[in-house]
Amino acid sequence: MKIIAFEVRDDEKEYFKKYESQYQCEITCVPYALTQDNLSIVNGYDGVSILGRCCITADVEDRLKELGVKCCVTRTVGYNHIDVNHAHEIDLKIANSNYPPTGVADYTVMLILMSLRHYKQAMWRGNVNDYSLNGLQGRELHELTVGVIGTGKIGQCVIKNLSGFGCKILAYDMYQNDIVKKYAEYTDLDTIISSCDVISLHTPLLESTYHLIDKEKITNMKDGVILVNCARGELMDIDSLIEGIELKKIGALALDVIEGEDGIYHEDKRSDIISNQKMAYLRQFPNVIMTQHMAFYTDIAVESMVKCSVEAVHDFIKKGTCETSI
Ligand code: NAD
Repeated sequence: MKIIAFEVRDDEKEYFKKYESQYQCEITCVPYALTQDNLSIVNGYDGVSILGRCCITADVEDRLKELGVKCCVTRTVGYNHIDVNHAHEIDLKIANSNYPPTGVADYTVMLILMSLRHYKQAMWRGNVNDYSLNGLQGRELHELTVGVIGTGKIGQCVIKNLSGFGCKILAYDMYQNDIVKKYAEYTDLDTIISSCDVISLHTPLLESTYHLIDKEKITNMKDGVILVNCARGELMDIDSLIEGIELKKIGALALDVIEGEDGIYHEDKRSDIISNQKMAYLRQFPNVIMTQHMAFYTDIAVESMVKCSVEAVHDFIKKGTCETSI
């Protein structure tokens, strides 16, 4: 069984080696993304392992199928970069990764706390020996209401983490979950929008969730609301975020992901002109924390992402299905 893994970082290589021998397969690792231009390289491989920079459109899927690939597995949890419907139509098997949600959930709580305590500004001041307190007075979580939108694996874990802080937690999802009900009160989206001090997003990016947070929703939020996004950038309309910050409607933004991050995040762009003007503009505000889509990035998650992808190809080929099949 032969697998080709794209976008492989150095820190993933030892795990590909480990699971190559465990699953008795042959794995080729390449650092670049799979594109229309280099598609022919997959010829002779049974399965393809990708990350988020590979855009698996219907055309790419047709070519993969023609070249004999049986399955395409993403090492990410989100799979908005894959045309899943078309893959089903042509019987190209697709799977995602199911690493533990704890890393992203911990990171989310960290961003909430950093925002409440103006940590970005405190850090800036420390760098220039400015130890003043003016403007750094924070708020305490136990006095606030936090809204969690999307109560799947990560949202649920965020809610459990937050329950230790004593805040009121409101939750919204189309599917209610009994574990969540122990710590949070389910309500409708409008109530989350209008009554929460902090709102954190944990839904996948779908047609129905694109720009879930837009101008109208921000207008209906509490003044000084803190918005956190560790899910996908396109869940929030970047123009509306900018307007909300400029009008001081939004008290703080903590974004591990941002609309238009593709081609920028996970690259060293120090010597380049940043092509996403809005992203560069948002970054300079004292109350906007932006990180490079790294909430997932822990030792446990990286090993698990690699293992999941190798296991998925192995199981698709040997058993016709796998646990993380989409
Ligand atoms: P999950 O599938 O377990 O949960 C998603 C939840 O969202 C589900 O309960 C679903 O019912 C709900 N949902 C879908 N549409 C909704 C809507 N319109 N309104 C409210 N709820 C809705 O997924 P997960 O493992 O919790 O991950 C969530 C997302 O986080 C992923 O899709 C991925 O995009 C993102 N993610 C980001 C990082 C990072 O490093 N920043 C890492 C992992 C995952």
